Amino acid sequence: MSFVLTPPRVNAPADYIEEVITGVRAKNPAKPEFHQAVREVVDSLRPVLARHPEYQSARILERMVEPERVIMFRVPWFDDRGDIQVNRGFRIEMNSAIGPYKGGLRFHPSVNLGILKFLAFEQVFKNSLTTLPMGGGKGGSDFDPKGKSDNEVMRFCESFMTELSRHIGPDTDIPAGDIGVGGREIGYLFGQYKRLRNEFTGVLTGKGLAWGGSLIRPEATGYGCVYFASEMLKNSKDALEGKLCLVSGSGNVSQYTIEKLLDFGAKPVTVSDSNGVIYDPDGIDREKLAWIMDLKNVKRGRVREYADKFKKAIFMPTDIKLNHNPLWNVKADCAFPSATQNEITAKDAANLIKNGIKLVAEGANMPSTFEATKIFLDAKILYGPAKAANAGGVATSGLEMSQNSARLSWTRYEVDDRLHKIMIAIHQNCYLTAEKYGTPGNLVNGANIGGFVKVANAMLDQGLV
Ligand code: NDP
Repeated sequence: MSFVLTPPRVNAPADYIEEVITGVRAKNPAKPEFHQAVREVVDSLRPVLARHPEYQSARILERMVEPERVIMFRVPWFDDRGDIQVNRGFRIEMNSAIGPYKGGLRFHPSVNLGILKFLAFEQVFKNSLTTLPMGGGKGGSDFDPKGKSDNEVMRFCESFMTELSRHIGPDTDIPAGDIGVGGREIGYLFGQYKRLRNEFTGVLTGKGLAWGGSLIRPEATGYGCVYFASEMLKNSKDALEGKLCLVSGSGNVSQYTIEKLLDFGAKPVTVSDSNGVIYDPDGIDREKLAWIMDLKNVKRGRVREYADKFKKAIFMPTDIKLNHNPLWNVKADCAFPSATQNEITAKDAANLIKNGIKLVAEGANMPSTFEATKIFLDAKILYGPAKAANAGGVATSGLEMSQNSARLSWTRYEVDDRLHKIMIAIHQNCYLTAEKYGTPGNLVNGANIGGFVKVANAMLDQGLV
């Protein structure tokens, strides 16, 4: 007996999109961030689906929203009192159509499967935009490095890597840092991988300079975001020089966003953490930035201490139960959300617009809620979505992988120059794609479509993957 495959039904793009979203909600209950990330991408794809019914008949979207593999594991470790602690570890290997899985590890108490699925999904499109051959993944743990000793962090990282090492490799899956995972954590993770596997390879990026790291990798996400913002302004015959800038967060992305803003002659006036906001009307200059870096990276203190040190600065506590954050109500020209997802609510977006904001460039992943994004697009301000604006971090991770494979190190100038050119290319791609599909200036559509098409075509080429 032989079976005949009938060609699949092709619906109107709007109906197909609704079908996909309904399916994602049903299969992934209680994962609102993942639903949000999927909705934002697929909403942008309407014109592509209309022009290319083959994506629908090949069920590309249904395949893209399903991770290729999800790994979830127990991470037991001893705290300094000798008590046993148990955390949960994850790695989502989302899509390897255009290269090995690549994406950061996040250590934060809020980490769960839904957050990591949203981050892994975003990563697929972001990595595609970088022009480099990298698939998408993301991982992490609900472990909170805050308040832990170095020894506790080390024991946790060793236990985490003991399991993760079975699943990753320099040609399979290459994790990096994210919230709560900086140079210290990457060091402990790399050390344990090397012990277990007896091989020195570029299995992680964000490594120390003496052991395979790349110059400019720590700076790359922040620098890249500012390069992207500069391109957006250039297109409107404007520049960053003299602009008053809001930056949220005070970690890796925020610190190097501030540094590059200063290089461009802009005036950053805020930083924050999960306890509150610092507003410094005099501006955060290089000396104050060095103080913040020491506070956050060495002393591991809280930003409120800034107001004790620099007397003109104001500390405003924040409350996550409220629907707005005072940081986004400070009058400024440009905003660089660089802390975490959904940190700009509809009310915050309305405050920014009311105060005359000209540009929002997203350093954090999905920092604007769905409603806030709509407010920015409707107001027609310059709006650089995360998967394009913050792609400089993973792009430079890609450059670290290239240097590891070639067993050589490029100079600071060479890496920075490549990063800068990549950010210009990403902006150009998003801008031209938005125009090509009938929504000029809408970089959300440009980024989503630009990232999607390359991955979708690779999947079509590779059969039923
Ligand atoms: P860090 O851990 O270095 O810094 C995170 C900062 O954000 C801290 O100031 C932290 O404050 C604040 N923050 C974190 N969670 C919350 C929260 N729930 N509410 C308020 N503030 C919060 O992380 P990164 O700078 O590396 O990452 C920041 C963002 O950038 C994330 O969205 C990340 O996914 C994204 N990103 C990072 C890349 C990288 O290369 N590092 C690459 C691309 C994107 P506190 O100390 O109080 O927790």
